[in-house]
Amino acid sequence: MTNNDLLDIAENFGKPVYVYDSEKIASQYQRLIDAFAGVSDLRINYAAKALSNISILKFMRQLDSGLDTVSIQEVRLGLAAGFEPQAIIYTPNGVSLNEIEEVAKMGVQINIDNLSLLEQFGTRHPKTPVCIRINPHVMAGGNDNISVGHIDSKFGISIHQIPHLLRIVENTAMNINGIHMHTGSDILDIDVFLHAAEILFDTAKHFKALEFLDFGSGFKVPYHNNDIETNIEELGEKLSARFTEFCLEYGSELQLIFEPGKFLVSQAGHFITQVNVVKQTTSTVFAQVDSGFNHLIRPMLYGSHHHIENLSNPSGKERFYSVVGYICETDTFGSNRKIAEITEGDLLVFRNCGAYCFSMASNYNSRYRPAEVLWYQGQAHLIRKRETFEDIMNNQVEIVFKPQMQA
Ligand SMILES: *Cc1c(COP(=O)(O)O)cnc(C)c1O
Repeated sequence: MTNNDLLDIAENFGKPVYVYDSEKIASQYQRLIDAFAGVSDLRINYAAKALSNISILKFMRQLDSGLDTVSIQEVRLGLAAGFEPQAIIYTPNGVSLNEIEEVAKMGVQINIDNLSLLEQFGTRHPKTPVCIRINPHVMAGGNDNISVGHIDSKFGISIHQIPHLLRIVENTAMNINGIHMHTGSDILDIDVFLHAAEILFDTAKHFKALEFLDFGSGFKVPYHNNDIETNIEELGEKLSARFTEFCLEYGSELQLIFEPGKFLVSQAGHFITQVNVVKQTTSTVFAQVDSGFNHLIRPMLYGSHHHIENLSNPSGKERFYSVVGYICETDTFGSNRKIAEITEGDLLVFRNCGAYCFSMASNYNSRYRPAEVLWYQGQAHLIRKRETFEDIMNNQVEIVFKPQMQA
């Protein structure tokens, strides 16, 4: 899709608006399939939390993807999108036994990441197949907020606890059918990933009836123009060979699973906003858009970089701007950015806004969450209406206060 398509969408659906290019999603999906063509049984489970609109989930299903979920609500969304329960894996962290039992009843694959719940669940439901999430203690990437495999992470069962884990499995006679890891969001070093894979293989050897090994995600996509991304093709070649070899050692053909979120949807997303004010201070020129961290929080929460372009004046002379929002808090999208000259009313587009953007949006400052549009077969389809004042009032309960009695 072109910038002119984006301008048309802003014209027709209003601003701010999230736009997702289905062709980009499909081509990223295909890239993964091609990279791991050497594996005889490969499964991609899209991580729903990255972008959970039901039309996106349906599109993923049409690509033949499965679904990775982290809450019972995401499981319900997946079922509503038409996924078979068996095509859904549920990988929660810190949820109640009750929620896990409810999801298990739906026929969804359960993935447990702590010994306490494993023991309780195994005691009560020894026949239900369960996957185990381990923590291989491998540092992936540099950002502590998005790296979840290190020693102090709250995720997964530590590999140092494998003896205790094995005792629970033996005592409860529960059915372990998969081993899982998800080390974080930035795999740059393929050797580090392959090292973590070896830890997964070592763990897998303890279990006799496995059906799959789930390597999670962590594929990095470029956000900066000169960013490095995970070399999927190289990883695919190396891991496929090693996986096939492991299956021979193990004595049965296992399924290899990945659960990418960002890799599939990040680059497909474009967020269009309009400049309300250009404000000059003593040191900076601010471009203030009709948005804020209520719509796009990654730059403020993670320090993430999203490339910004002026759609309305693409060939204008470039100048330096700080692009900020309209929220009554510091909400800087990007400082000191070189952008084609901005006039009030211009439309700015933020790139790489498919993953963890709309799905983290809120109503802070009592603002409406934006509309979402899917670009599919050369046409724009509304997949979420812009909110209205009714949405803000929804669920709020007004108390009728009696007038105070005068003393
Ligand atoms: C969030 C998450 C993913 C997806 O991570 P990305 O970095 O978006 O690819 C995969 N697996 C689990 C368990 C997750 O929590």
